[in-house]
Amino acid sequence: VYWLMAETLITMERGLYQLAGVDAGDVWRTVRISERVLQSADTVSLTLTSLDGSELPTFAPGQYLSVGVTLPDGARQIRQYSLCSIPSSADWRISVKRISGTPDGEVSNFLYNNVFEGQELSVTTPFGDLTMPDDNSPLLLASAGIGCTPMIGMLNHLVDTGAQRSVSVIHADRSIADHAHRAELSTLVDKIPAATLHRWYEDLGTHVAFGSVHEGRADLQDIAVEPDTQAFLCGPMPFMLAMRASLLERDVPAQNIHYEVFGPDSWANT
Ligand SMILES: Cc1cc2nc3c(=O)[nH]c(=O)nc-3n(C[C@H](O)[C@H](O)[C@H](O)COP(=O)(O)OP(=O)(O)OC[C@H]3O[C@@H](n4cnc5c(N)ncnc54)[C@H](O)[C@@H]3O)c2cc1C
Repeated sequence: VYWLMAETLITMERGLYQLAGVDAGDVWRTVRISERVLQSADTVSLTLTSLDGSELPTFAPGQYLSVGVTLPDGARQIRQYSLCSIPSSADWRISVKRISGTPDGEVSNFLYNNVFEGQELSVTTPFGDLTMPDDNSPLLLASAGIGCTPMIGMLNHLVDTGAQRSVSVIHADRSIADHAHRAELSTLVDKIPAATLHRWYEDLGTHVAFGSVHEGRADLQDIAVEPDTQAFLCGPMPFMLAMRASLLERDVPAQNIHYEVFGPDSWANT
């Protein structure tokens, strides 16, 4: 049984290498940071460029890459970050939110505090199966906090390809100041003719709710969910579970609800 399982996993992995167009196991490359931009107080985006100026491979919108770093204590650590750039562009871009807590997140704080323009970074080829169907089905993209990154990648792709399909974008955050990629999100949605944006902030500060900007926790009550909608969710588990329950109530079939968990997937068997 052990060898049957091993063979199954080895075959799956071989398939992933083939799909990515790389030799088995040969997934790491060194890139240079060509731009570093603060997207919110806690989130920094890093644009990654090849060392020889050649174009980096394209990726499917929604995919992520792994970043490998050697921490000051000598430990090598690997973490995943979703690509949020235009998939057809020559460079890649990721956004990293530093995690403050007890203890602070190791790699996110290392990248936030130590990685700047001109430095090199070890990253993998893009992988991941949170990818959009390339048809005309309506999309619903719902994210919370740093879960916005795969959605920004998808929206960049939709704008780049002149998509006409219907897209409902939902984003929830603690506050307007915490919302990474806030201005870019609005600009991208404005460029898609049939797209709408709804935002929820737990704390609106001195602002008042208006139009599609709401105070409180995100809910889908007043959002039109079209037939055959393909929904993509990314954010903390309670957010994704609430969105999924609302979508199921609105008759979106479970197989049309796709999600990315930014950590161990405790939802995989539910
Ligand atoms: C497919 C995928 C895509 C992702 N995309 C993004 C992205 O686009 N942007 C992004 O910012 N992140 C993304 N992530 C998350 C990212 O990979 C990292 O998990 C995140 O940056 C935290 O890593 P870290 O090393 O900073 O935290 P870690 O050091 O791994 O810590 C994680 C958490 O565990 C807690 N912890 C650690 N040790 C202990 C302990 N001993 N006791 C109690 N608690 C502890 C920490 O306080 C922290 O809250 C993605 C993850 C996946 C799987």
